[in-house]
Amino acid sequence: MKNDCVFCAIAAGEIPSFKIYEDDVALAYLDINPFAEGHTLVIPKAHAKGLLDTDDAVLAALLSRVKKIAAHIKAVLPCDGFNILQNNGAAAGQTVNHIHFHIVPRKAGAPVTFKSAPGDMKALEALAARLRMPAA
Ligand code: AMP
Ligand code: ZN
Repeated sequence: MKNDCVFCAIAAGEIPSFKIYEDDVALAYLDINPFAEGHTLVIPKAHAKGLLDTDDAVLAALLSRVKKIAAHIKAVLPCDGFNILQNNGAAAGQTVNHIHFHIVPRKAGAPVTFKSAPGDMKALEALAARLRMPAA
């Protein structure tokens, strides 16, 4: 791993991921410890630690991908709503120091919790195939 960053290694294809979207600036894949079915992470391919370290143009591009991918997830799953979460610093719960936006699908009536559980790898693989979408 070039810089000890697991998300850079995923972006470089050095370690596998349940990828659902990729273009020149961004990559999206399922979280392996999801809060809810379809929990997806959207990252820039270029390494930056958090919101305050990320170039404004990259952030703008990234948020447009978050919007597009969230709309796609909402249509395919389907779900009734979703949370966007972006943690900055260990104090805020950031465990991977490569900026990422969480998209957490929500179903009406289900409790809103931020508790993760290890995902079933076969189920994640099948879900990623269902959610995979073309680059814009
Ligand atoms: P955060 O707490 O905001 O830093 O979130 C990091 C997220 O990355 C957690 O929800 C982890 O489950 C997730 N994660 C860590 N390693 C991987 C991986 N190899 N593939 C997918 N998700 C991962
Ligand atoms: Zn990185």
